[in-house]
Amino acid sequence: MRQRLPPWFTKKMPEAAAMSRMEALTRGLRLHTICESALCPNQGDCFSQGTATFLLLGNVCTRNCTFCAVAKGVPSPVDVEELEHLAEAVVRLGLNYVVMTSVTRDDLPDGGASHFAEAIAQIKHQNAAVMSEVLIPDFCGSLSSLRTVVEAQPSVTNHNVETVPRLYPEVRPRADFRRSLGLLRQAKEIDPGIVTKSGLMVGLGETVEELVWTMEQLRQVDCDLLTIGQYLQPSPHHHPVVRYVPPEEFREYEVLGTAMGFSGVASAPLVRSSFNASQLYEKTLARRQPVSGRS
Ligand code: SF4
Repeated sequence: MRQRLPPWFTKKMPEAAAMSRMEALTRGLRLHTICESALCPNQGDCFSQGTATFLLLGNVCTRNCTFCAVAKGVPSPVDVEELEHLAEAVVRLGLNYVVMTSVTRDDLPDGGASHFAEAIAQIKHQNAAVMSEVLIPDFCGSLSSLRTVVEAQPSVTNHNVETVPRLYPEVRPRADFRRSLGLLRQAKEIDPGIVTKSGLMVGLGETVEELVWTMEQLRQVDCDLLTIGQYLQPSPHHHPVVRYVPPEEFREYEVLGTAMGFSGVASAPLVRSSFNASQLYEKTLARRQPVSGRS
């Protein structure tokens, strides 16, 4: 029986006009958003602010994570006009910080890395002042795919470890914790000036000790930014919520993460990987010495 949502999940109704404006724009440009595909609880806030996280490479994933609402199955061929449409959406929304993610395309030779790199290049070409954050899959551990993305110089390279290693078999059965951690380490080896980011969900059955250990592992690979949010069950067919973590415990993780050396930690029940992404990025800029040649 699904648990009742605790009181701290009250949210004001999203502005209907803002929702339909964003939906009309993305539909008109045949673009997907992870906001809609993953049933993100912050859609109303973000769409009202005229921002969204674009879901590249279609909205059907080749993997089967049990927490995720994104459709699973055989993806359609890559839409060759997608990046042109994305660039147009960036202009029409007047975005100066663009967040892009994708489903995992294990069916593509490079896992979609070149598509991400081309997206970053097109956005920079259109307006060099516009920053990009990419939330990438693990590319099955392919270093050349990762290099393709990192060398395109996104402002932030994000890859979520999502949960603690013990829960991977039931939460992310086709992922590997060491591989995900390795990706974040390798991104820094390819480009020491890059900003890396990762995200964790809580309430899936992890212990506090496991979560703190996982945060320490992320710091050991010099991960700069961290998001921690409450897992919410998209449907009765998805992984159950084991615990609703109280807001004060999220605040403790924020303090702990900052003490561990993350230059930006966003930790609260409704925090998601890309929620207020530009604000979190600005936090790290304030704490880091700029590395030459990087935007
Ligand atoms: S790989 Fe990503 S999009 Fe695919 S099922 Fe897992 S979380 Fe969802």
